[in-house]
Amino acid sequence: MIASILHKSSLSHADIVQLLEANEEDTKVLFAHAAKVKEQYIGKKVYLRGLIEFSNICGKDCYYCGIRKSNQKPKRFNLSDEAILSAARFAYEHNYASLALQSGELQSPAFTKRVEELLYKIQDLSQGTLGVTLSCGEQSRDTYQRWKQAGASRYLLRIEASDQSLYQKLHPNNALHSFSQRIESLHLLKELGYQTGTGVMIGLPFQTTAHLANDLLFMQQLDIDMCGMGPYILHEDTPLFQYASTLLPLQKRLELSLKMVAILRILMKDINIAATTALQAISPTARERAVAIGANVLMPNITPGSYRDDYHLYQNKPKSAAIATQDTEHPQTAFFGNAEIGFGKCGDSPHFFRKHNSSDKIK
Ligand code: SAH
Ligand code: SF4
Repeated sequence: MIASILHKSSLSHADIVQLLEANEEDTKVLFAHAAKVKEQYIGKKVYLRGLIEFSNICGKDCYYCGIRKSNQKPKRFNLSDEAILSAARFAYEHNYASLALQSGELQSPAFTKRVEELLYKIQDLSQGTLGVTLSCGEQSRDTYQRWKQAGASRYLLRIEASDQSLYQKLHPNNALHSFSQRIESLHLLKELGYQTGTGVMIGLPFQTTAHLANDLLFMQQLDIDMCGMGPYILHEDTPLFQYASTLLPLQKRLELSLKMVAILRILMKDINIAATTALQAISPTARERAVAIGANVLMPNITPGSYRDDYHLYQNKPKSAAIATQDTEHPQTAFFGNAEIGFGKCGDSPHFFRKHNSSDKIK
């Protein structure tokens, strides 16, 4: 019986596999339980991060990703500082309270310096109030440290697949795509005091529910503060496209992704979990469903419109504008699904502050 699993104080690998494979009726019980856990530990809120995809120039060649270096098709772009800062100002003025800056992965002194300078300017334009998440891949300790110093407090680096042999099937076998380096980077981020986020893609070729159960246990063991995970979506100009016929149907990938969110909420009750954009690529209401059963972070895309189409990680990537602009008269009446949008609240990870037993107040 699923109820007996849900009331255990800790979940084993076998328990999690059983939850991931639950039938429709049991899944309803799982989702209802996860919704209750969310309400108890996080409340019914959802927090915003205005997402700026500032460059699709990438030095890596991940087999799943549409903007990988070897793909000649995408028009490469790099937003000007002014465009990035104007998007940041939009987020600030519309009370999003947080930003996420994401890009392809480049490791160079010039890139480090550019992001550093942007971070200082973002702090200036918001009087130090905007929470900033970075998602710019693997970097040196020095680079992570400088970016933290310049105002980034959170970092999202997905492990993509926590099983080394699966990871290696998804990436070229070279030093730039080393599994142990990725793990090392996650430890570095934690050590440097970032609210550290990771995540995986769900429904990858070669991936089983046993892998996914281990992914969740990996996140628990690493004691992450935030998670962004979502369905794997094909991109025709990538090496993984050849496995298209082996994939779960999209609806099944969506259901599995929602189960992953619900189970993670039960395992890690007070972390931040994003309802990711890839969910929306499958169904327009998938993010609302994720929020109802455990997610508490939304990342509306505020990249200037003309560039949004070029940040093409996967097919059907939504190009929609920001989901919400604040009605300053009645900010408390804005809802996303059944969740109240935390306008003006930067929505730090409660888990991070609890863990560090910090006297810092959660903003
Ligand atoms: N370059 C950085 C951040 C940009 S990519 C990095 O790799 O960390 C952001 C995320 O997009 C990746 O972590 C990956 O999980 C996701 N992604 C890439 N291709 C995808 C695909 N085909 N389907 C779903 N998610 C994908
Ligand atoms: Fe580059 Fe990130 Fe895509 Fe890999 S997933 S190719 S690092 S943008």
